[in-house]
Amino acid sequence: MKWTNKGHELDFIGKRFKDRKQIYIYGTGPRGKLCYERLAFLNCTIGFIDGNTKKRKIGFMGLPVFGIEQIDALKKEHSLIIIAAGPTSEGMIAKTLLFYGFTPESDFYYMDSFINAYLQIYAMYAHNKLMVNLYPQSVTERCSLKCVHCNHSLPYLKNPVNFKKEEFIADLDLFFSHVDYIYSADFVGGEPFVHPDFYGMMKYAAEHYRSRMFRMLFVTNGTIVPSDEILELMKEYNIQFWFSDYRTNVPQIQHSVEAFLQRVEKSGVTILRNELETWSDYALGKADIKFANEEEKIRYFDYCGTPCRYMRNGRLYYCTSDRMAQRAGLVEEDCDSYLDLKTITPDRRMEILEFDLGFNTKGYLNTCTKCNGPYLFSVTPVPKGVQCTQKQLQDFPKQCPFPGIEV
Ligand code: SF4
Ligand code: SF4
Repeated sequence: MKWTNKGHELDFIGKRFKDRKQIYIYGTGPRGKLCYERLAFLNCTIGFIDGNTKKRKIGFMGLPVFGIEQIDALKKEHSLIIIAAGPTSEGMIAKTLLFYGFTPESDFYYMDSFINAYLQIYAMYAHNKLMVNLYPQSVTERCSLKCVHCNHSLPYLKNPVNFKKEEFIADLDLFFSHVDYIYSADFVGGEPFVHPDFYGMMKYAAEHYRSRMFRMLFVTNGTIVPSDEILELMKEYNIQFWFSDYRTNVPQIQHSVEAFLQRVEKSGVTILRNELETWSDYALGKADIKFANEEEKIRYFDYCGTPCRYMRNGRLYYCTSDRMAQRAGLVEEDCDSYLDLKTITPDRRMEILEFDLGFNTKGYLNTCTKCNGPYLFSVTPVPKGVQCTQKQLQDFPKQCPFPGIEV
């Protein structure tokens, strides 16, 4: 989307929320609990609604439980109802709310659509809180693997580096000086466990900011067994692994991945598994997408909607693949790819939200014209994790027509 009214692009949605600072959650089951937890950073839930009168006597999550007939007209104007029930009950609840005079997408929302489509806008307009969904922070450009289709273009880098702890901390502090809350803070590489001071970096992140992250993940290919002190830190701060298993296509890592899994399972730290069986071939720099006009480029970028941001040297890049392709010299440097958080004053925080939701100067990134896009968007699936041959590694520098951006 192209910026045409910077700082006010979302006003047309935000005005629905401005005066509705309180939330009732309809449902007192597991989804009601999850909804409450997702909204906890706003401290805005004032009660639950449930048809079961017994539940009204005992309350839920320390809050009162009401019947719908108790939500009177006055409260209705200043609150929202989020339906947080299973698929079989959701429709019945919506019908009940309609009969009681509540309007969908105004007085009430379904939990999944509210959290996925509106929560960031609600947080900003109703509570002046800037929330970002996904914050992937890289600690290193080095990796224990060299995947042909790495969407960070790592095998193409001429001089991959471990980032210095002070630089990592400066970026983290700057980011959190603007942003109040992150849904998923994903610490990535390359492979993060190759960094000799990964523990020190993560200790800082957890001690200072864990309370401002809904979840904190270490993203790994499972080829390196983490140290005991890292596992202890993960238990102390409820940090989880996000594990991608490439053993099917990379048999040589079988033993190291088994050792990783055994150690982690023994430690009790939770492993979330990346279930993708195939990847997209982004073909960064090599793809040549034909567009009839600027509008088509904007639509292509909008459909992509990649969730993967990248923070480096105070710059928040919208797309990790774009930034890393520039870094590798596969595409030309593009100053529209990022927002420089060092120059953003507190009164311009709305621009960060808009940028994170896909607004920028041109309405797309230059790299989009040379990128097939990520999985589910692209039509060119490739097997995951396949490793580069020696010849491909030798030929890679020749495939980088641009000098590449400094680390
Ligand atoms: S494991 Fe493969 S895809 Fe992941 S960062 Fe390393 S080279 Fe890239
Ligand atoms: S099309 Fe490619 S370069 Fe453009 S935003 Fe999506 S992943 Fe990034």
